[in-house]
Amino acid sequence: MLRYCALIVAGLYSAAAYASSPAGNTAPVTLTYLGTAGWEISDGTTVILIDPYLSRLFGPQPPGRPPAPRTPGDARPAYGWDDPATPDKSVIDAHISRADFILVTHTHYDHVLDVPYIALKTHATVIGTESTANVMRAYSVSEEQIVTVRGGEDYDFGTFSLKVIPSLHSPLDHKHYFSSETTPAGLKAPLTLQQMHSEGGTLAYLVRFHGHRILAFGGMNYIEREIQGLDPDVALVGAAGSRKELYDYSGRLMRALRFPEFVLPTHWDNFTAPYGASQQPALDALQSFLQEIHAASPKSKVILPKYFEAISLPTLK
Ligand SMILES: [Zn+2]
Repeated sequence: MLRYCALIVAGLYSAAAYASSPAGNTAPVTLTYLGTAGWEISDGTTVILIDPYLSRLFGPQPPGRPPAPRTPGDARPAYGWDDPATPDKSVIDAHISRADFILVTHTHYDHVLDVPYIALKTHATVIGTESTANVMRAYSVSEEQIVTVRGGEDYDFGTFSLKVIPSLHSPLDHKHYFSSETTPAGLKAPLTLQQMHSEGGTLAYLVRFHGHRILAFGGMNYIEREIQGLDPDVALVGAAGSRKELYDYSGRLMRALRFPEFVLPTHWDNFTAPYGASQQPALDALQSFLQEIHAASPKSKVILPKYFEAISLPTLK
């Protein structure tokens, strides 16, 4: 089981001394894990979602991975690549009531499938690649809600700022994964899972919010020179097994980021299993990631998130 001294389970901080913030909002920033690569970042006023994927369809696996076994008791239908990408509205509605911004790292279905529904429901601004924009347009999300980026932008949104980081997709299929495809314009909903399988390029995001610098990855790769100097205090780090295809993944990452105070593993769970299912195999596999981070950055506090349990960050300003 999880036994590292620097490991902290979600929900430990209750920031006591609230100071003033630029927006006059003194609530602490919270991070809430939605499963897969999905997160909610909130100060109680501004709600930012990252890759929110709550439907957790029993769908096909990424390239090079065998079909996942069905979780005992999971009677949901199996989805193939040619099936319509159908969001589980009841699960989404149970957990997502509002959002102001949705950041999408890339347009694989385990990142983007729920975004059109959430965008239409919340009227949030969706930020992502041209591929992300075209998925939104297929579902008639309004142009006013779509901000298309390619990496390198540094945007001010008033209550927070957002640096868009060029990045790379996880090295799936033992480094044979490659996709240069972008979701084309002109598609009409409902898209199939296959139509949500164009990567469209991959981005990471640095969210500067109430003095915190939160760096979010959507998978297990990065461009080292693009992340040097970002100095996040919080890093959401892809922790699934494909990271082992990379040379010194955790060591290079921790050094480039100058040893963030908090490291939160992301994209480590089995996203084809429903929320209530056991994630023990994924948790067991996570042990080696925890060891890597502990070895590379012993002072970093690794927080293992639990679904839908808010993690409060210390109040900075
Ligand atoms: Zn992907």
